Amino acid sequence: VEYYLDNIERQNHLNAFLEVWPEEARAQAEAVDAKLAAGTAGKLAGMVIGLKDVLAYKDHALQSSSHILDGFKSLFTGTAVQRLLDEDAILIGRQNCDEFAMGASNETSYFGPARNAIDPDRVPGGSSGGSAVAVQADMCLASIGSDTGGSVRQPAAFCGIVGFKPTYSRISRYGLIAYASSFDQIGTLTHSVEDAALLLEVMAGADNFDSTVSQRAVPAYSELLEPAPHYRIGYIRDCLDRPGLNPEIKAATEQALDAFRGQGHVVEAVDFPYLDFIVPSYYILTTAEASSNLSRYDGVKFGYRAADATDLESLYKKTRAQGFGPEVQRRILLGTFVLSADYYDAYYTKAQQVRRLIKEKTDELLREYDFLVLPTTPTTAFRIGENKKDTLAMYLADIFTVQASLAGVPAISVPAGHDAQGLPIGLQILSGAFREEHLLAFAKSVT
Ligand code: GLN
Repeated sequence: VEYYLDNIERQNHLNAFLEVWPEEARAQAEAVDAKLAAGTAGKLAGMVIGLKDVLAYKDHALQSSSHILDGFKSLFTGTAVQRLLDEDAILIGRQNCDEFAMGASNETSYFGPARNAIDPDRVPGGSSGGSAVAVQADMCLASIGSDTGGSVRQPAAFCGIVGFKPTYSRISRYGLIAYASSFDQIGTLTHSVEDAALLLEVMAGADNFDSTVSQRAVPAYSELLEPAPHYRIGYIRDCLDRPGLNPEIKAATEQALDAFRGQGHVVEAVDFPYLDFIVPSYYILTTAEASSNLSRYDGVKFGYRAADATDLESLYKKTRAQGFGPEVQRRILLGTFVLSADYYDAYYTKAQQVRRLIKEKTDELLREYDFLVLPTTPTTAFRIGENKKDTLAMYLADIFTVQASLAGVPAISVPAGHDAQGLPIGLQILSGAFREEHLLAFAKSVT
């Protein structure tokens, strides 16, 4: 704990932590020490963990890096966080992210951007940007983030660490601030695949507080990391020929595929006809869900309330106009529009149908192949401010991560070298739903 507190002290100019809990962390560490001495310590004893500012932890501030939740403290601890505590993890602080997890650069945070430790003029990715930097710069051993369309995988790629999103419904979302509920999953940012496996094992499983969570038994992922000798691996041909894909990332992906061939795996190109539709359907569906989920922030029940309201309607309007940042407002407007009576069928229903096609095709490929391998991102970490004005370009850069989110399948980003400037490159691996033990075993063999 002292080691990490010291690193936070020296490194938090990177704006990774919004808040640090030194006294609590020390007290937790002492309690864990006593348990270790008594031989009763849990699976995560001594693991120092940071929480993205979207995870409820009783009596601790929680605000999704948004002005609108100023002063809000959680009244309860979410299921996943409680399970970490039950296994003697030590929680060290709350981490910066894009506002309501909407973004891919951590630049939409009310608290300003987190910065990439490799080059502080560059973004760490997002939305779990602070969580990625915290692990990258050794301010904690692991971070718990959330991934709706890439938010743990993309920042992990930009920061040179492991980012893992399990199958949709594998981990309870109780206590996770909702962005787009049919996509949101808790995920991990770690140095190693072993840590990701251990954290999944602890957090996953049935929970009475989330009606969508899977009832399946939880395998001992951390003990199942031995890969099979031969896998069938597919890669989507068009992903690698995508305009805008950085040639060094393409080369790193091809090199990984060659290495897999060399190890005796079957590696084959596959066709996925819906590549152009995944970003549009993702943004229609997620903004629709977000517009509904975020309607609860109205100045009445949570956090910030505009001071100059004159009646109930002006309270809503002023609170939301002042409390939400521009990206969140844009998405609420877009989501409200696609759900409006005149456009619902043309946009929302159509996007649902497209999602179904994408899911069925992805599931089919993942029955034919053990894994799909593709880049995590089209570029390496870009400069802060560089893409901020081009919203559409920022959305389109999610092209490689949102497929797994639309399909609800697990996906992991592992480090795959660096570009000529020394910026990390991520390799992404997808497996069929609930095949995490295979995915993690293979990912471990790759790192
Ligand atoms: N960049 C994507 C978005 O802005 C993903 C965010 C996320 O996974 N929370 O929606």
